[in-house]
Amino acid sequence: MSSLTVQDVTKSFGATPVLTGIDLHVPSRSLTALLGPSGCGKTTLLRLIAGFEDPDTGRIAVGDRTVTGAGRGVPARRRGIGFVPQEGGLFPHLTVAANVGFGLPRRERRDRGRVRDLLALVGLDAALAERHPHQLSGGQQQRVALARALAPRPSLVLLDEPFSSLDAALREDTRQAVAEALRASGATAVLVTHDQAEALSMADQVAVMRGGRLVQFADPQTLYRHPLDLDIATFVGDSVVLDADVRGGRAHCALGVLPLERPGPEGAIRILLRPEQLQLGEPTGAAPTARVHSVDFYGHDARVLLDLPSGLRVTARLDGHELPADGAEVSISVTGAALAFPAGPAAEVGRRELTGPR
Ligand code: ATP
Repeated sequence: MSSLTVQDVTKSFGATPVLTGIDLHVPSRSLTALLGPSGCGKTTLLRLIAGFEDPDTGRIAVGDRTVTGAGRGVPARRRGIGFVPQEGGLFPHLTVAANVGFGLPRRERRDRGRVRDLLALVGLDAALAERHPHQLSGGQQQRVALARALAPRPSLVLLDEPFSSLDAALREDTRQAVAEALRASGATAVLVTHDQAEALSMADQVAVMRGGRLVQFADPQTLYRHPLDLDIATFVGDSVVLDADVRGGRAHCALGVLPLERPGPEGAIRILLRPEQLQLGEPTGAAPTARVHSVDFYGHDARVLLDLPSGLRVTARLDGHELPADGAEVSISVTGAALAFPAGPAAEVGRRELTGPR
């Protein structure tokens, strides 16, 4: 498997710029997620890498081989790239074995052992080999699509929102099976998604896109803990964003006086906390208090919306055992440090779409 390098790639459709100055390096044998809201250019970038479209400027290389740019244009079928589309794209009239075999060189197509190995790699029983796609669940179809893409031992595998049509339970299992199969095959892979949980849980690196630009490229933990701006922060997870005043190196805000992860200049800032940093207790008079607006119970944990005396609403994420009742008065304490960002317009709470100039 090879690395992927994208250098200063731009693309417009008519007069509309869709990608601007994209630089990206995906190391060999790693999985990178392209994450961003609808219309930010993720699929267009994937299609340029695959060779389904040509960039206006810039260069794309698979390993040391330039596949587009610098006067070269290798056609899609000669790039050695496997592609898993949104809905699998299996041939409905062919069996699973024939679908997987379709990806193999002609002389290997009748090699049942190879097809069986590929099915095992994606966690499917060999007994499914003679079924047709309509006799499989959506998750099984996506695994077959991955087996077909991996069959010719491609240099790189591209996956375009491969789990978007699956329901929540199937999505989780299929994600895990696909991530394991990609790792076991040593594949270098690029996955397009607009689902931040999917990107954070599956990828080695996440490339966040906004308005046709790459705005942060980091491993999932760095991205979640050290987002470069508040738009990225709120896009990659639930957030508590508050106005604060830095005095003596600490942030004075509606939730008390908090340590800062990287203390900066004194004065007005905005701070970011994650909802799991908020702990609730009995009102003591010492800690800031809030009234519980509502509790969304998810089983393993719960999201609690809290109204502060100032009218601001913040979110806490608690494990599902001891939850407050709607309307209860609680105290709030904060664990860990806050991240500082430049002061801006009124504080916003919760996730919102990343938007930006085109
Ligand atoms: P989604 O998550 O909704 O699939 P995306 O991030 O993958 O979105 P793209 O499909 O890459 O976004 O589209 C980026 C922009 O380019 C959109 O505004 C889209 O309308 C436009 N676009 C994409 N393909 C074409 C095309 N062939 N001709 C004209 N405009 C296009």
